[in-house]
Amino acid sequence: MGFFDKLFGYRPSSTNTPAKTYLTETEIKKRNEDFNIKFEQTKELFIHSLEYYNSIHCQCSFPRFQQLIGIDCTNSGNSFKCYDTDLLIDLSAGYFNIEKSELNDENTNEKWVCKKCSSIYEYGWSDFSIYVERQKLRLIKLNVSYNGKPVDKPVPIYIGLMGHSYPSKQDVKNVSFDEFSKYMNEN
Ligand SMILES: [Zn+2]
Repeated sequence: MGFFDKLFGYRPSSTNTPAKTYLTETEIKKRNEDFNIKFEQTKELFIHSLEYYNSIHCQCSFPRFQQLIGIDCTNSGNSFKCYDTDLLIDLSAGYFNIEKSELNDENTNEKWVCKKCSSIYEYGWSDFSIYVERQKLRLIKLNVSYNGKPVDKPVPIYIGLMGHSYPSKQDVKNVSFDEFSKYMNEN
């Protein structure tokens, strides 16, 4: 939860609607608690998913991993952060060797190489305004064949989005934790 977000108490982005209605102190506190619960739940889930992917082969061979880390607002000219994407990128860092990138189109550029299959990704971090920043992980070269289940469209997410302009309901949808958990764990 960004400082600015807390300060101004904007309503949470139910996917797709950038509403700017102000909240009361109690509502802000409640919302931050809800956010923390969702965040911790999802962290546990992703740690487990990454272990599962790596018990089969590696995260790269799972289309649903690729789909979630692939959410990047700059692909559609929007300005938002997807907390689910951000957290999965953070937690997967340990499965990659992080090298110097040739690119300089982001505030931070890195080349991430899978420790198991040597697939290559470009990592980027940028801030677009005082309160929207996001990181991305873009697949450049896949060195393994897919063996996970296919992806759904729209992309299911659980924690949610925060930003200035959002993707459409055809692209991203909020789902329950149960649905999200089954999806990420391929059940
Ligand atoms: Zn890999």
